[in-house]
Amino acid sequence: MQRLQAFRYELMPTGEQQRQMRRFAGSCRFVFNRALALQKERYERGEKKLGYAGLCKLLTEWRNGPETPWLADAPVHPLQQTLKDLERAYANFFAKRAGFPRFKKKGQHDSFRYPDPKQIKLDQGNSRIFLPKLGWLRYRNSRKVLGEVKNVTVSASGGKWFVSIQTEREIQAPVPKATSAVGIDMGVTRFATLSDGTFYAPLNSFKRHEDCLRRAQQAMSRKTKFSNNWKKAKARVQKIHARIGDVRRDYLHKATTTISQNHAMVCIEDLQVRNMSRSAAGTTENPGKNVRAKSGLNKAILDQGWFEFRRQLDYKLAWAGGHLIVVPPQNTSRTCPACGHVSADNRQTQARFLCVECGFEENADLVGAINILRAGHARFACEVSGAVMPPAAGTHRSDSFRLDAGVSAVGIPRL
Ligand SMILES: [Zn+2]
Repeated sequence: MQRLQAFRYELMPTGEQQRQMRRFAGSCRFVFNRALALQKERYERGEKKLGYAGLCKLLTEWRNGPETPWLADAPVHPLQQTLKDLERAYANFFAKRAGFPRFKKKGQHDSFRYPDPKQIKLDQGNSRIFLPKLGWLRYRNSRKVLGEVKNVTVSASGGKWFVSIQTEREIQAPVPKATSAVGIDMGVTRFATLSDGTFYAPLNSFKRHEDCLRRAQQAMSRKTKFSNNWKKAKARVQKIHARIGDVRRDYLHKATTTISQNHAMVCIEDLQVRNMSRSAAGTTENPGKNVRAKSGLNKAILDQGWFEFRRQLDYKLAWAGGHLIVVPPQNTSRTCPACGHVSADNRQTQARFLCVECGFEENADLVGAINILRAGHARFACEVSGAVMPPAAGTHRSDSFRLDAGVSAVGIPRL
């Protein structure tokens, strides 16, 4: 079985390397934005979108032209990768997976990717990596890189530089140690409730840091834009953002590791987070209802990283030999697990479930988790017997159901 895995380290660049990396990231951003602007103009003129090959041709002209000769200083492959990213952004937009591609801004996701392993040298013994036009870079060697290097991404976050090394290696198909199955209900008051009764407290990393962040943002707004003090204040805001991300990632990783090691089959509801987190305000013709409450909920959902939770569960289960089963969200919060009665009245409040038919009473999230586990069992049985189940609405990947896939449904941890 092929296992794709990313290893991420903090870089310890020299001053010159830092300046170069900033320049390279800036060049990539410039190329992305220029290509996007061009595609938009073509669209307005009624012309067809340029393909990747066409854009690469233009990139060569830009690099050799008189207007932007500095583009030639940046390594060419990362610039081309930027155009690939733009292609993918368009593809995601047309497939309705994402919004229209947006222009990149300085300081947001500054990064560039080296796609050719032949140009990359990794010297783990000396904790250094060689990248084209940057030379040897030292990194904080916190763990061994396993497998064959496929590509390398350099990125900036919170004033630091990181390198993410994507690798591929052959591993033996894992045999799951756990045998149990569990259903998970995702919620706002409880981040996740398992059908065995355990639950995870809400992840309020953002809330906890919110005051801190607001103060820093206010301090920044009081400074004269682009002054030295403004830059310092901005660095502080970015640092808090990075810290929030770290806390959230750490929490999610711990939760998903525990769950994937203790259960062979995990059933989860296919919540369409994208729909839920879409602007609650609606449009002018069709204004949204309960805008305040909904945007609060949306924020909580995003804050808690449900998507990230599911993504991590998916690949960690695959690594452990388990399976993630996504079930369509139908009546999971309204069905009585004791008598099967389905009614919206069963759920009088957000927290309590009380069956109007048989009087069964339980925490509403736990009831949801039990129902999700049942739905998952039914789905799993159909898969095994070969019956065709309609895919859950918006199911992210069918790999989750495939039991004998040669390549596991690995998510590449994009940290
Ligand atoms: Zn009942």
